[in-house]
Amino acid sequence: MLKKLAEMIKTSENIVFFGGAGVSCESGCKDFRSADGIYKMNYKYPPESVLSHSFFEMHTEDFYDFYRKYLCFPDAKPNAAHYKLAELEKSGKLKAVITQNVDGLHQLAGSKCVYELHGSALRNYCMKCGKFHDFDFVYKSSGIPKCECGGIVKPDVVLYEESLNNDIIEGAVNAIANADMLIVAGTSLTVYPAAGLIRYFKGKNLVLINKDATAMDEKFGLVIHGKVGEILSKM
Ligand code: NAD
Ligand code: ZN
Repeated sequence: MLKKLAEMIKTSENIVFFGGAGVSCESGCKDFRSADGIYKMNYKYPPESVLSHSFFEMHTEDFYDFYRKYLCFPDAKPNAAHYKLAELEKSGKLKAVITQNVDGLHQLAGSKCVYELHGSALRNYCMKCGKFHDFDFVYKSSGIPKCECGGIVKPDVVLYEESLNNDIIEGAVNAIANADMLIVAGTSLTVYPAAGLIRYFKGKNLVLINKDATAMDEKFGLVIHGKVGEILSKM
């Protein structure tokens, strides 16, 4: 199977990568749905409700408590998957990375064309005056992070019930529609509308690299169950 993947990469000229939380697991970030993922932590609320807009409005302090614990990864470094993708982009083969992650690790590894469907924890804005605040400002504050002006500083992360940025969706859809190879990895393909974007792919090589089986495995021409960093580092 690894041979087949290597052959596909070799013969493709417009590769797009679509990833989820699993891509950052080898960097020490927890995903949501693995056996040791955030869903299994028995937090007092399920992650989808904590990470929803209405929860943010109603239980703002609890939101930040969960957010700092489970969606901030101050020590995470890019892993072999992030570096391999940056290398493939540099060589001209890979045209875009589309990610559901908010950790900024693709850019840290050197990727240039990255569509962050769910935003980034590295960007935070005051809800009152719009001022930008960095990762540490939110991560190192306690309780509800407040701007000098008194406004709440909100991470530029798309919460459940909030809509995705149209320009980012459009860029991601175009990249997928023009690709001759789509590598989907580290995602349970259960979070919409992100997971629905792969239906725009019309090319020949559709590959899934995921630790666990997903409900969409049968839609892929090649399915490899394993760790994406380990696998891509052999390419
Ligand atoms: P998910 O938790 O639903 O699924 C992750 C998938 O990755 C699982 O199917 C698991 O089997 C697989 N996986 C785990 N480790 C892997 C590895 N080393 N190699 C290959 N596959 C591996 O994640 P999702 O589908 O991305 O949806 C969760 C939502 O929460 C997304 O929006 C996601 O970005 C966000 N989230 C982000 C981060 C982050 O930014 N690092 C972390 C947790 C959740
Ligand atoms: Zn402000």
